[in-house]
Amino acid sequence: MTTLAARGGAKTLDIPGPHYRWPDMNASLEQAIIVQAHRSLSDRDASGIIGELEKEFAKFASAEHVVSFASGTAAIHAMGRIADLKPGDAIIAPAYTFLATASPFAFDGIEVIFADADEYGNVTAASIEAVMAPNVRAVIVTHMWGNPCAMTDIAAYCESRGLLLFEDCSHAHFASWNGQRIGTFGDMAVFSTNQKAITTGEGGLLTTRLKAHRDLAILYAHYNKRALSDIDRDSPIYPFAFTGMGLKHRITTIGAAIGVHQLQHAADIEKRRRANLATFVDGLTGNPVLTPVVVPPEHGTHGLYVIGFAFHPQAATVTRDEFIDLVVAEGAREVDAPGSTRNLAGEPLFQRHDPYEPWTPRAAGPAPALPGVEAFESTFLKIPIWGYPGDTELVDGYLASLLKVTEAVAR
Ligand SMILES: *Cc1c(COP(=O)(O)O)cnc(C)c1O
Repeated sequence: MTTLAARGGAKTLDIPGPHYRWPDMNASLEQAIIVQAHRSLSDRDASGIIGELEKEFAKFASAEHVVSFASGTAAIHAMGRIADLKPGDAIIAPAYTFLATASPFAFDGIEVIFADADEYGNVTAASIEAVMAPNVRAVIVTHMWGNPCAMTDIAAYCESRGLLLFEDCSHAHFASWNGQRIGTFGDMAVFSTNQKAITTGEGGLLTTRLKAHRDLAILYAHYNKRALSDIDRDSPIYPFAFTGMGLKHRITTIGAAIGVHQLQHAADIEKRRRANLATFVDGLTGNPVLTPVVVPPEHGTHGLYVIGFAFHPQAATVTRDEFIDLVVAEGAREVDAPGSTRNLAGEPLFQRHDPYEPWTPRAAGPAPALPGVEAFESTFLKIPIWGYPGDTELVDGYLASLLKVTEAVAR
């Protein structure tokens, strides 16, 4: 067996960082940015690149209506306002997700009740039902790290209880469940386009089947010119079109141009990312120490955000964190255990049920039991999925590093 780099052996890959840049800043994307810079740096309506982005994204996501935002966080906030969620109401959210899945509701004084995770880090109909309460009006799910939630059951459960269903698709732009595109199971969905599989730099896209939701999304994010031109004059909310709801969350034109370029190349991005994912799935399935965390293909299609793995501590002579250090020492510097995506249940923000109370943290109540979240969090690690020409060396190098270390630490 070859000696690990951490123990004086040769590194598996020696490529200077950063190993992951996104989007792939090639000549054609540079050109699209420059063209937009000359065309317009700020659009007040959807007659230009912002409308193009929303149209392209509707095709991409199989969505009826798309409204763009300055961020995914703002778009998630809009879902609560569109649905009239208010203090006294509760929403069930994943305990394990990026904070912005839940934080915008807390901002409005809406109680967030946290649900446990399954072996993919996802909430399920059962984990949602387990925390059900009389004041719950809505459920939000996140398709964690690219794996779609079991949406058929979740949608059926929400429908049977008369609950609104929101999907946070920020990790899962390319995912489907049971042959159906994620983002189309609930009442509304949000796709962050920050550093995600499809990016606009900063931005977020809200999708919905209902024109009434779409009009309210415009009222939330885009006042005056756009609202006046896009909301029908005979709509009951038209009198608000000039002022909007009082805020503005418009995407930048340069961001929109990056997004349109990405969507025009979405088929290539998907093909390359799927091939990379398959390389790791083929290389590590059945490995005693480290196995890919990917929903079975007969249930769902992965969303291609990152590649996640489960570390099996009982099969190894090192801990998960020691394992990561050994792989990083091999030169695979982007292997990590997520830091900012973690159990949110103890955060002081979620103790607040009045949006206007002062920012004085209150003592946390008893922590809810979340054994699924604990098990997932303590064993999960991830790597980038890349997806651009020339990434082969990194893909092969990372797989070789993972294989070398798993072999060295196996019991
Ligand atoms: C990135 C992300 C968000 C927030 O989106 P921004 O565009 O960064 O505001 C929300 N939820 C999840 C799951 C995310 O990954």
